[in-house]
Amino acid sequence: MKIAVIGSINMDLVLQVQRLPQKGETLLADHYEKVPGGKGANQAVAASRLGADVTMFGALGKDGFGDELLERLKQEKIHTEGILRTETPSGNAMITIDEQGNNTIIVYPGANFDVTEIWIRDKLELLEEAEWVMFQLETPMKTVEDGILRLKASGKNILLNPAPAKELPDSLYPMIDVITPNETELALLSGTEDIEAGARILLKKGVRQVVVTMGEEGSVAISHELAIVGKPYRVKAIDTTAAGDTFNAALLVALMEEKGMKEALSFANAAGALATTKLGAQSSLPTKEEVLELMKKGLKQNA
Ligand code: ADP
Repeated sequence: MKIAVIGSINMDLVLQVQRLPQKGETLLADHYEKVPGGKGANQAVAASRLGADVTMFGALGKDGFGDELLERLKQEKIHTEGILRTETPSGNAMITIDEQGNNTIIVYPGANFDVTEIWIRDKLELLEEAEWVMFQLETPMKTVEDGILRLKASGKNILLNPAPAKELPDSLYPMIDVITPNETELALLSGTEDIEAGARILLKKGVRQVVVTMGEEGSVAISHELAIVGKPYRVKAIDTTAAGDTFNAALLVALMEEKGMKEALSFANAAGALATTKLGAQSSLPTKEEVLELMKKGLKQNA
C-alpha cells in the first residue's frame, strides 16, 4: 500500500497566552512548544501511523528546523528521498492560543515554496512506485497543477485536499479521483453553501468523488451514483488542529484497503475525532489500534 504525499512541511511554534496581544503590545507566554506540522507532513505522518508505506515530497531549509523535521519524518518510517534541502529557511507557523482557545496564526511558507514543478518532474521515477498521490494547497499552485497532470497521465490515483481554500482551474477537476474540502472550502470552490449542491457542481466539473468534512457533524461522500453520510464520533475535543489532515490520511488508507465508502468514512471520522483530543498537529495523530478501539466503543454507544 504505497502513498506519495506532495506537500508542505512546517515547524509550528505554539505559544499559550492568557489573551491575544493588542497592536504594539508585548506579552509573556505561559507555555511554549515546538510541534512538527504542515498539512503535507501531517497527512504523511498520519498515513504512516495508520499502516501505509509513505514517501514524502517537499522541501526544507538547510537549517536546524530542517534537520529536526527531516529526522522526525524518518522516525515516523516515512521515506524522505523526495525532500529537497534549499537555501530558503524551513517553513514555520507562529501560533498563539489564548485561554478561551482563540488563536492567531502566521504562516511563513519558506522552503515550501521551493517545491517547484521541476523538482517533482525530477522525482517522477520515485513517484512511479505510488498507487495514490495526495496533494494539498500549501505548495505553489503550479506544482499542484503540473504534478496532478503528469501523475494522472502515468496512471496514478489522485486525492486533493483543497486546503487552505483557494480557487482551482477548471482543467484540474477531471484529473482528481477524490477531493476532500471542508464546508468553507467547498463553498469557495462551488459558489454555494449548500453541501449537496456544491458537491454536485464539483462532480459536474469532472471529479469522481467528493468527500466533505463537517467538523463535529462528521462527513459525507457524494458521487454521481450515491451519497453516503459518515456519522461523527463523540469525543472531548480540545484542539482541532490536524483533524482534517488525519481524516484525509485515514480515508485514503481505508480506500486503499478496499473498504467500502461507508466503512472508510467511519474509519476517517474516528481518526479525525481522535486528533482533536490532543494538543498540536503531529503530536495528536492516532495509530490504527487507537482508531479501531474508538470505532468499537462508538458502535456500542450507538447500539
Ligand atoms: P478541517 O480541520 O479541515 O476543517 P474538520 O474540522 O471538518 O476538518 O474535521 C475533519 C474531520 O474530523 C471531521 O469530518 C470529523 O470526522 C472529525 N472531527 C473534527 N472535529 C470533531 C469534533 N469536535 N468531534 C468529533 N469529530 C470531529
